[in-house]
Amino acid sequence: MNNTANVDSSEIEKFDRLAQMWWDKEGPMAMLHVINPLRVNFMKKNTSLKGKKILDVGCGGGILTEALAREGAVATGIDLAPMPIKIARQHAEKQGLSVEYLLQNVESLANERAGTYDIVACLEALEHVPDPKQIIDNCVTLLKPDGCLFFSTINRNLKALLFAIIGAEYVLRILPRGTHEYSKLIKPEEIEQWTSGNGFQLGDVASFMYNPFSKTFKMRAGADVNYMTYYKR
Ligand code: SAH
Repeated sequence: MNNTANVDSSEIEKFDRLAQMWWDKEGPMAMLHVINPLRVNFMKKNTSLKGKKILDVGCGGGILTEALAREGAVATGIDLAPMPIKIARQHAEKQGLSVEYLLQNVESLANERAGTYDIVACLEALEHVPDPKQIIDNCVTLLKPDGCLFFSTINRNLKALLFAIIGAEYVLRILPRGTHEYSKLIKPEEIEQWTSGNGFQLGDVASFMYNPFSKTFKMRAGADVNYMTYYKR
């Protein structure tokens, strides 16, 4: 590995500890399970997935990666947390799904496989790394010239602090406490700046809106608290 600096070991330990419960739909990753179909729909709305080579950066236990494989994509997941990768491999095998999982940093993969992927997705992971711009730069390197990008993360403003941290972790408890740190959240303008610097333009943006009464999410256009973006050249 040539650049191991862009990783926060306390984040990796946090996800390692949760790995055994990654596929428990009522466990600490419940929210990822609930929003996953919405994420896949957002991707399908903007590009076709079937037969595409897709890289899922910060894949964890593989909730998105597996769903992409089910859509007919040739899916690879990459993460730096050993336990989630182990769980992801076991789970895919049990499902009879062919998914490649790599325990490796994205910088070194970018050196090995530049220009390989039709689609690179990095969902709910940028807010857990010290330098998200560097991750985005590597995602771009891994893409084919006509490839596209998907990101999702949490906005950094008062509303996000109230809803995504205080509301979700302390009041409604739909996320484990300490999941997110306010200063690491990312404004849509920041992602915009990092991607446009690489020649990409925003193709679509939508947000996951939580209904605490029905305990469901739906997607609404625009960048609100928890938002997902699609970028193309
Ligand atoms: N993207 C998955 C999991 C999100 S949880 C999903 O949305 O379903 C965040 C993941 O980012 C964890 O699995 C964590 O181990 C991973 N992660 C954190 N820092 C990372 C880094 N520097 N490189 C790769 N993955 C990282």
